[in-house]
Amino acid sequence: MTIDLEALYTDLHEHPELSFQETRTAAIGAGHLRDLGLEVTEGVGGTGVVGVLRNGDGRTVWLRADMDGLPVEELTGLPYASRARGLNPQGTDVPVMHACGHDMHVAAMIGAIEQLVTTRDEWSGTIVVVMQPAEEFGAGARAMIADGVLTRFPRPDIVLGQHVTPLPTGVVGVRPGTQMAASDGLTITLYGRGGHGSRPHATVDPIVMAAATIMRLQGIVSREIDPREMAVVTVGSIHAGLKHNIIPAEARLELSLRYAHDESRTRVLEKVERVVRAEAAASDAPLPPTIETDHTLPPTINDPDATARLTAAFDREIGAGTVLDPGMFTGSEDVSWFAREAGVPLVFWFWGGVDPAVYMRAQAEGAIERDIPTNHSPFFAPLLQPTLRNGVQTLTVAAREFLA
Ligand code: ZN
Ligand code: ZN
Repeated sequence: MTIDLEALYTDLHEHPELSFQETRTAAIGAGHLRDLGLEVTEGVGGTGVVGVLRNGDGRTVWLRADMDGLPVEELTGLPYASRARGLNPQGTDVPVMHACGHDMHVAAMIGAIEQLVTTRDEWSGTIVVVMQPAEEFGAGARAMIADGVLTRFPRPDIVLGQHVTPLPTGVVGVRPGTQMAASDGLTITLYGRGGHGSRPHATVDPIVMAAATIMRLQGIVSREIDPREMAVVTVGSIHAGLKHNIIPAEARLELSLRYAHDESRTRVLEKVERVVRAEAAASDAPLPPTIETDHTLPPTINDPDATARLTAAFDREIGAGTVLDPGMFTGSEDVSWFAREAGVPLVFWFWGGVDPAVYMRAQAEGAIERDIPTNHSPFFAPLLQPTLRNGVQTLTVAAREFLA
């Protein structure tokens, strides 16, 4: 009996779940892994699932797939588009979509494990499937580690993972060294003194303070960081006030910071703190601002030797020229916590999900940024096939390469 992976994928796509709420997805994944004969443990780090496939002596390879959707209203128009809704951590009802393709990661994982179980006479070793919650919070990997994923299950000799991306189908993007940026998510609260909108002189207006702070923060990368160094300072959320004529008492900003190296991280964080405190002081704020770190993600660094070995395996098993170096991505991932904590190599690669004809046309028009929806877009829609088949193949080839 073979698993209908397309049906699995479209079902997951139609029923996305927000971070740490992936109960349905986890149960479906766990069910398939159990049917395939793995020892399955649920509820690891919240909604995480671990499946162990022991097949004689050899190395232990961890295969990781993340499971969560995003608070995005799907606009793809696909027959299996999501109409799901969920409650975010603030308790607000929001639309939910698999806008990052984690549904594809789960379906490809189940397909790869099916292949590996079917061919178990041809390899030996131990496979640990890690179905991780809450990648989009940057918190799921650490939650699983805190729940003992590295001690309760066979420890990895290598950690492998993959992400679907807007490259043409058939292409794998991977590079040795830094593949993805490090990132911090900060919440900054600025304190003013509220009052009547007609009497600004009797208040300290946190909205004006926030506006000045945001503009000044944008000077960090453009004026204070060496142009040869990569850094991003994005203010992704600003909340203050409830009504035209009331000056509120506080304003809240949410920042996303990115960098390639730990040294850049230290520099950017110092500068952000300096600007935020100085702008509050310049506004005569009654209280100093608070700066909270919501998540910290290390850079995703691919082990050079393992990456070279994997690149050779992809070129040999899938076809010469399958692999290209996509450069470093400014996005971030929490997959590397597993490898960092275990002190073992990591390889994390990207596989293409865009119709090559569509991609080539956009490229010819110089319109890739405009015409090819990226992860987190409401239009993000990997071509179901051959993307799913390719994802099964890359994960299977990769696992086989590092097993005996
Ligand atoms: Zn994402
Ligand atoms: Zn993702």
